[in-house]
Amino acid sequence: MSEATTYLATVRAKIVARDGNQPEFLEAIDNFFHTLTPVLEKHPEYIKANLVERLTEPERAFQFRVSWVDDHGNVQVNRGFRVQFNGAIGPYKGGLRFHPTVNLSIVKFLGFEQIFKNSLTGLPIGGGKGGSDFDPKGKSDGEVMRFIQSFMTELQKHIGPDLDVPAGDIGVGAREIGFMYGQYRRLNGYQAGVLTGKGLSYGGSLARTQATGFGLLYYTEALLAAQGEQLTGKKVKVSGSGNVAIYAVQKATELGATVITVSDSNGFIYDPNGIDYKIVQQIKEVERGRIKEYADRVDTAEYHEGSVWDFDVEYDVALPSATQNEIDGGRAARLVQNGAKVVASGANMPSTPEAVEVFHQANVLLGPAKAANAGGVAVSALEMSQNDERLSWTFEEVDQRLKTIMQNIFSESAQAAEEYGFGKDYLAGANIAGFKRVADAMMAQGV
Ligand code: GLU
Repeated sequence: MSEATTYLATVRAKIVARDGNQPEFLEAIDNFFHTLTPVLEKHPEYIKANLVERLTEPERAFQFRVSWVDDHGNVQVNRGFRVQFNGAIGPYKGGLRFHPTVNLSIVKFLGFEQIFKNSLTGLPIGGGKGGSDFDPKGKSDGEVMRFIQSFMTELQKHIGPDLDVPAGDIGVGAREIGFMYGQYRRLNGYQAGVLTGKGLSYGGSLARTQATGFGLLYYTEALLAAQGEQLTGKKVKVSGSGNVAIYAVQKATELGATVITVSDSNGFIYDPNGIDYKIVQQIKEVERGRIKEYADRVDTAEYHEGSVWDFDVEYDVALPSATQNEIDGGRAARLVQNGAKVVASGANMPSTPEAVEVFHQANVLLGPAKAANAGGVAVSALEMSQNDERLSWTFEEVDQRLKTIMQNIFSESAQAAEEYGFGKDYLAGANIAGFKRVADAMMAQGV
């Protein structure tokens, strides 16, 4: 065993002793650690500085009670979280997730991933994440607003334009960001740069709504181009039907691919003629309905209960854009049998470690989340720049910058993978390229 392997095993054992009850966080750690060995072998100074243990312990983590009154006059209690994981390269930056599954493990896994994702964008943003176990599903606008006002009354103590800048994630879209900004402003006055994903009338950026989905396709395009291929004519399976999925469908279609599926937590739509993103947007974002309704509106579409990954059909590219651990080992094997050659992650950590191993064995190319879905946070950072300047850039300018950022993320990850002996393992490449910048900053700043 090399010094690097022994060191990583020691750090891992400490994490297990402290956080053994946080499975998603441990999974993110494991995905990361197995790619770090050659970097530590080349840079023993990182071991001496105990950089990996420092990097895996959040700088700060908050948990707070959120009490609010529902439409029946009952007092409800939820839990709020914010993890400020690493601020070496810039203010903490990362979304807020509202979903019943949210707990400290989920927020730490997302915050840990965010450090390297944000570093990969090349922009000065540190890693953070937060959220609540509040479920916006089935809640009235008034309930969502009252919950958020209570949530923000506590969170506002810990955030600021140069300190920590939250944004959306699952369950947090334009409506929620609006309520959050309103409450922040009521308590602190005007500070446009404290949140991103804002509405255009109060400091939001053009193309932020589309950014994660569009960015996912710019990344996928770059990955395919590196294999001498293109998206035109490819069949694409998308899972999810939220903000990432909707704009992934739009951009994939514009680039000449046919998207044959979208899904929600109950079931999925299959349409061999191609999904129309505008209908998905209408159902999910305007009507806040279920994806099942798509089949009532489009003759060629079929609705099936269950997971889209258990449905056999031939296709080329998978864009899982729903949530974590959606594709397990069995589903990954099925994906390989269905002929898919590329999996690019719109969601964070959609594939379990077993699935990643199956892809690896079958030479399926994996675009990891921290690279492939970095477009959202990249445009969030561009929104922060516009807020600082008190200017708004055109849609075309933001979109062009996004495209360049995504192409750079792909090429830097591919280069790092090559340099450290990982071939076309773009997960390893993204881990290493993201890690290096943060590591250099931490080394420069001392203990
Ligand atoms: N929630 C998104 C992500 O996972 C965006 C975060 C942001 O814009 O700050 O990267």
